Amino acid sequence: MAKAEVAELQVPGVLRSFSPVTGELVSEVKAATPNEVREAVERARLAQPGWAALGAEGRAKALRTLAYEIRGRMDDFVETVSGETGKPRVEALSHDVLPTLLTIRYLGRIAPKALRSQRVGRLIAPVLGLSSSIDWRPFGVVGFISPWNYPVFLSFISMVPALLAGNAVVLKPSEVTPACGELMREVLTVLPEDVAAVVQGGGEVGAALVDAPCDKICFVGSTATGRRIAEAAAKHLTPLVMELGGQDAAIVCEDADLDAASSGVLWGAFLNAGQTCAAIERAYVVESVADRFKERLLAKLREVEAQPEPQIGPLCINRYPPTVIEGRSEQMAIFREETFGPVLPIIRVKDEEEAIRRANEEGYNLTASVWTKDKGKAHAIGARVKAGTITVNDQAASAGAPWGLWGGVGESGYGRLHGELGIREFAVPVHVATTLFPKMKKAWWYPYDRPTLSTFRAFADLVGSEGLGAKARAAATILPNAIRSIRGKI
Ligand code: NAD
Repeated sequence: MAKAEVAELQVPGVLRSFSPVTGELVSEVKAATPNEVREAVERARLAQPGWAALGAEGRAKALRTLAYEIRGRMDDFVETVSGETGKPRVEALSHDVLPTLLTIRYLGRIAPKALRSQRVGRLIAPVLGLSSSIDWRPFGVVGFISPWNYPVFLSFISMVPALLAGNAVVLKPSEVTPACGELMREVLTVLPEDVAAVVQGGGEVGAALVDAPCDKICFVGSTATGRRIAEAAAKHLTPLVMELGGQDAAIVCEDADLDAASSGVLWGAFLNAGQTCAAIERAYVVESVADRFKERLLAKLREVEAQPEPQIGPLCINRYPPTVIEGRSEQMAIFREETFGPVLPIIRVKDEEEAIRRANEEGYNLTASVWTKDKGKAHAIGARVKAGTITVNDQAASAGAPWGLWGGVGESGYGRLHGELGIREFAVPVHVATTLFPKMKKAWWYPYDRPTLSTFRAFADLVGSEGLGAKARAAATILPNAIRSIRGKI
């Protein structure tokens, strides 16, 4: 249904979703009030210390129960995601349910190591009489605001690492997919009470969550909304993770396997009807192979459309058919804006140099892909393209690979999900510096006398000089001066 039609059918305080396939009402859910949002955050704050006290192993175990619950309700999830977004069931299963389970299981396994306290400066710290370690502590309550295009996975992709890191979480799912929000609320009840809450509503409920305030906000959505949230979060200096949109470029080289590349670019552009942050929105194809590439891709698109089961679902909040266009000019809206629909511009370029330049200059990439038979060349090209993920001979699928990384650059956002770094994104690194000799006074305490000055001059010489001889001379003067300095401390 068109966005305007959906808006007309809404009533205040209630979220109604409609099937993009039939236009029928799918669900009606009561929206939260700003007060209810604040209460959910307060309850989460009270529940968080108990959750943190379970330790990383205990939390991973609790999340395995959640995975078990989701697996048990797999059909409900597939039907609800497909019903509210209009995407084929295969996509609901493979892009929402499966990567959620993979994320819970994989991150649960690596969380204890990712969050373990780390000794640092093993050689240098003892010279100053210290032992240093970095501890990873939870932020407290983390707020999540998620979009409708992958309503389940894009909520869990970020909540799972945050829960593993010991935070309590409050999720505001998209108002376009409230039934998915209810399903997530139901399965999250297997976790200890108030550790994971769901507050339903539109932008104003998201804004209330940002203003609650939370100790960190993770937003997945459009770049325009991301900017508004960043402004609102500045009031409380709330740290943010921003997973935003993209106009992702594909570079099809002269030596690409045209059969595989045309299949892969077709899928990368039209998966989820192009309503994917990492969908290909610009295919730069080297001139010498452009005609053959385009013919194959168009023939395959016709084949996809002729399948008995619909492969490309209807758009969730707008209407238009899968479209391939040749070229793009600065006057066109698709040049400046994320399309977020089934439109693929094929752009001919003289060579790969031109493709790299235009991939960087003519839009912003959340991810980018390089299509070639030569792995070395793919990595060399990838190293020069500005994007959070570089995919070689595929597109977008690495979003569901929790061992990797997920996050943008520039206008496609900042912060990282997945992997060890994704877990640590939701933990505050704290340096714990412990004195090795607690009874001994420090050379840097009062008074600042001559031996103290000589000690630090020798130390600076040691650090700043080159060559073993110079370093040995500096080291030899440190010890006697340091002893005299420490003896004279108040
Ligand atoms: P959107 O920005 O319109 O809405 C996203 C969420 O923000 C919704 O839950 C909405 O209610 C909430 N919101 C709106 N205004 C708000 C405000 N002022 N304060 C707080 N919350 C507010 O995005 P959408 O249409 O739901 O999703 C599509 C967009 O998401 C596309 O741009 C797509 O590229 C992007 N996206 C990014 C990723 C990623 O991983 N980087 C993944 C999926 C989608």
